[in-house]
Amino acid sequence: MDSVEPRQTKHVFVTGGVVSSLGKGIASASLGLLLKRRGLRVGLQKFDPYLNVDPGTMNPFQHGEVFVLDDGAETDLDLGHYERFLSENLTRQSNVTTGQIYETVISRERRGDYLGATVQVIPHVTNEIKSRIRRLERRNGAVDVVITEIGGTVGDIESQPFLEAIRQMGLESPPGTTLYIHLTLIPFIDAAGEPKTKPTQHSVKALREIGIQPHLLLCRTASELSEEIRAKIGLFCNMPASAVFSAVDVNSVYEVPLLFHEQGVDDLVCRTLLLETPPPQLDDWHAMVHRIKNPGRRVRIAICGKYVSLKDAYKSIIESFVHAGVANDAHVELVWVSSESIKKQGPEPFLDNVDGLLIPGGFGERGVEGKIEAIRFVRQHGIPFLGICLGMQCAVIEYARSVCSLENAQSTEFNREAPHPVITLLSEQREVTNMGGTMRLGAYPCVIKEGTKSHQAYGTTQISERHRHRYEFNNQYRDLILQAGMIAAGLSPDGTLVEIIEVPDHPWFVAVQFHPELKSRPTDPHPLYRDFVAAAVKFRASRQTQAVVGRHEAGMA
Ligand code: GLN
Repeated sequence: MDSVEPRQTKHVFVTGGVVSSLGKGIASASLGLLLKRRGLRVGLQKFDPYLNVDPGTMNPFQHGEVFVLDDGAETDLDLGHYERFLSENLTRQSNVTTGQIYETVISRERRGDYLGATVQVIPHVTNEIKSRIRRLERRNGAVDVVITEIGGTVGDIESQPFLEAIRQMGLESPPGTTLYIHLTLIPFIDAAGEPKTKPTQHSVKALREIGIQPHLLLCRTASELSEEIRAKIGLFCNMPASAVFSAVDVNSVYEVPLLFHEQGVDDLVCRTLLLETPPPQLDDWHAMVHRIKNPGRRVRIAICGKYVSLKDAYKSIIESFVHAGVANDAHVELVWVSSESIKKQGPEPFLDNVDGLLIPGGFGERGVEGKIEAIRFVRQHGIPFLGICLGMQCAVIEYARSVCSLENAQSTEFNREAPHPVITLLSEQREVTNMGGTMRLGAYPCVIKEGTKSHQAYGTTQISERHRHRYEFNNQYRDLILQAGMIAAGLSPDGTLVEIIEVPDHPWFVAVQFHPELKSRPTDPHPLYRDFVAAAVKFRASRQTQAVVGRHEAGMA
């Protein structure tokens, strides 16, 4: 332990092989949690090999959810896992893409900064990658360990410069300061009756060909790998069997750090990086996982949106319900309803049997009329409702049409000539034609009205929440709509923007212009999701009582 400087930042690199979607993000976040709980200061970042500058311009079907940070960065959904596991707010420095690297290198070349040199992938692009990796070494003071996840799969053309850059970092750093983790898949082939190691052998071979010898293998597998299989993998991959770990499929992602710790993953990482720490403090994490796995009751909440076939588009919402379930000792069963089916068949067949409805954010007109009908149904039937972003805009449109007699009330996103544009662009947004990063993005303060459901939930009048949208509540209709009963429960500090609306005389009807799910954490559930689920639990209980009374009256109970 004597040769290491006390504050030298260590680097862990996480790569993936065989197939994508193995959970590199969860693996990186889990290791981050374990190291943090050992008292180390951890930085987490993801490098994405695509050419988009950020995922903000990508269709959710391509990329899943865009995770927005406080500083307004539109990032990969893995950043959501990082924030939830670390319980920290990250910055735009934690998500770097090939697009950003090339943007920097090319503008530097145009300025003449390379002094006549031929600008090449090695060393100019790899130098830029390395300097971005090192950027995280200092974040509010020195960081002990930076974990860098490299997106994509080993063998992809796009990820080659990143792998080359992390290879160079290993070469340039003193022993005991860099560590490579490789996540792979061990498929179980029924016909052979055994787990197959060959794809992993090939994947590690591809890594070794470019000069990277992993220190640690995390093998995704349906059941724990035997000693024999681990030894075989170790032999073919040039590493000890003790460095080959099973990343067994689990029901909750929050179990992953516990499984890693039981097998000694964080122990080996600390030993290799010459970090001496106490064991991780995980009591609250154990308790939280126990509550997820042993819920006392159930509720059913419908999510009605456009991308319901692709759950990754709603990742943070799904996780927020897990957190809110823990807070309410309930398992939240999510019922996915396509807004277009509601348009075709009406809301009743889909919403008759649920305890709450959430309308998530979204873009474009498809499915909007179905969402509006669903909102009308839950408003009239006293079913708890939470509207997010487009969900709030639809709630305003529905109220304007049904309660304020503004027939054809609409958002100008869907009809520029709408007779009653209750949702519209702010004047400064009207001129914008460039698509990247032009929305209201990131954290904005909001002042909450006392005595509202939102005030009850937050327990304060000053909040800050993250936004990602272009359209806003149209102030020209504010008086009319509020006089009809709707409450503006949250406003921007200068009073110009309506950030939260509520409908009174309803058990729980709250809709927000921001995305509360981006700030929910397993150990700190978001107050709005928590209270929405509490309202759903109450609604279900009253529904069940009514059913019993009903049966009693009919002489059946
Ligand atoms: N399409 C709406 C807007 O741009 C809502 C966006 C969202 O739900 N994230 O304002």
